[in-house]
Amino acid sequence: MAENEREEWSLGPSTRAVHAGEPAVRDDRSLTVPVVHSSTYPFEHTAELVAFMSGEKERTPEYGRYGNPTVAAAEARLAALEGGDAAVLLSSGMAAITTTMLAMLRAGQRVVMTSDVYRKTRQFALTLLARYGVDVQIVEPRLDALEAAITDDTRIVFTESPTNPYLRVVDLEGLVRLAKQRRAKTIIDATFATPINLRPLDLGIDLVIHSTTKYLAGHNDVMGGVIIGRGPLVEAVREHVGMLGGVCDPHAAYLTLRGLKTLGLRVARQNASALQLARMLEAHPAVARVWYPMLETHPDHVLARRYLSGGGGVVSFELRGGLAAGTALVDGVSIPKLAPSFGGVESLIEQPALMSFYELSPEQRAGIGILEGLVRLSVGIEDVEDLELDLRRALDRVG
Ligand code: PLP
Repeated sequence: MAENEREEWSLGPSTRAVHAGEPAVRDDRSLTVPVVHSSTYPFEHTAELVAFMSGEKERTPEYGRYGNPTVAAAEARLAALEGGDAAVLLSSGMAAITTTMLAMLRAGQRVVMTSDVYRKTRQFALTLLARYGVDVQIVEPRLDALEAAITDDTRIVFTESPTNPYLRVVDLEGLVRLAKQRRAKTIIDATFATPINLRPLDLGIDLVIHSTTKYLAGHNDVMGGVIIGRGPLVEAVREHVGMLGGVCDPHAAYLTLRGLKTLGLRVARQNASALQLARMLEAHPAVARVWYPMLETHPDHVLARRYLSGGGGVVSFELRGGLAAGTALVDGVSIPKLAPSFGGVESLIEQPALMSFYELSPEQRAGIGILEGLVRLSVGIEDVEDLELDLRRALDRVG
């Protein structure tokens, strides 16, 4: 499909995930994107160099830190999939988050961040950004709290939706309205949602970030992070990549492109399986509470229905028996592996108290709302009947 032959925005997400950004026929006639392992890109002669430097001639940038053809193909696909007009693909989700904020902020400006964002994002803001004179305000994801925190000095309002581990869903239209009143830019980390389940740019969000390590690449075998949005804002971030250096490796870009092709299939399955397992968990006597956005009992269910077309593959739940019951469950299942991360084809399971929040005391964890009996299940693409039986057997043993 030639980029200029069809209007890509009118195509469905799975068609875009397979084809977007591709030429009709490649010069070498390969169907798939070639992996270009070159760190430098020679010029034929000095006249070509000068034509390139003056902007007269377009070609691959002269050095791997400024661009790579395989990475550029993945960026074109990701931009089209999210409905943006440009993307920058970096070495990890954290590289995408830190590069974007370092590129956009200066001392004296404020960042308003909703409280349930990824722990390392919050730590980056509260330690590094604060050290360089940025005023960081962490607020509950409620409109009244956001309104009070967004001042004229606010450059960025950063949120995540759904969040980790409680899968909170933010009133994104309200957040955009409040940010625009103060001319602040809005950034959402939509890693948990994927472009299949949430369309943040359509809601007026300025920049969307994904850890492509998760659903987008989808096979637990590669790391990456992407920033997607309107051209000028994305290009301003790209300008800083040459300095900050968190570039994506071409092989990682290829694996991401390959994983993306099945995104629609995988996420549809993960949405359906996770909902089925969430309902089973909710009915089990060993479980005190379940958090899944598509359950009527979730605190943000109404917002989830408004913004999300599926709840995603992550289900969090609290066991009545606390930490020990969680450990018995995690060690008792055979299909989900005990590991962090989510969004891949393999189901994973973990206790946040013993993984991301291990170094905190139970009192400190309670202070930030991390329950001792909490378990986070990332549902993969295995047969849901097998997952259900495996979980049910282990839960029955827990008591
Ligand atoms: N954003 C969210 C919501 C995440 O859960 C994670 C990692 O778990 C990241 C960003 C960071 O991504 P990466 O691990 O690719 O650096």
